[in-house]
Amino acid sequence: MNSCIFCKIASGEIPAEKIFETEHAIAFLDIMPRAPGHTMVIPKIHAENLSDLPREEVGPYFEACQRATDLIKKALTPDGFTLGMNYGRVSGQEVDHLHFHILPRWQGDGGHSLQSVVSNKPTEDVKIIAEKIRKAT
Ligand code: AMP
Ligand code: ZN
Repeated sequence: MNSCIFCKIASGEIPAEKIFETEHAIAFLDIMPRAPGHTMVIPKIHAENLSDLPREEVGPYFEACQRATDLIKKALTPDGFTLGMNYGRVSGQEVDHLHFHILPRWQGDGGHSLQSVVSNKPTEDVKIIAEKIRKAT
């Protein structure tokens, strides 16, 4: 039995404040919003993280992320957005079903930049790190 809470939202088993649904994805409001219009976009199929999402689902999924962002932009006229996903427990991922957070941002909202969530300056030269990544297959 699938106990994944976002699979249950995708199947309609549990309710959510849905914004829209496509063949591949659903956008709905976060139940504990950090900002007005805080929205989650999930693929309908279960994938734990971005790496698990089948290649053919990636395009339709990101199209839904773009569409949700554009709808929120029109409806709520924020000054900007913070967009992203937590991948793995260490990053703060609590729900093991891929989800894209759309966080509308306003001047003076007390938030920070996405990259400020970590402060772990590399000790290796960037060229060495880049070479390691390039060599990975
Ligand atoms: P994360 O830490 O990236 O795994 O975030 C999971 C997010 O899902 C949190 O912001 C929760 O508030 C949100 N969430 C959990 N359950 C629900 C639900 N039933 N409906 C809407 N959002 C949810
Ligand atoms: Zn799931």
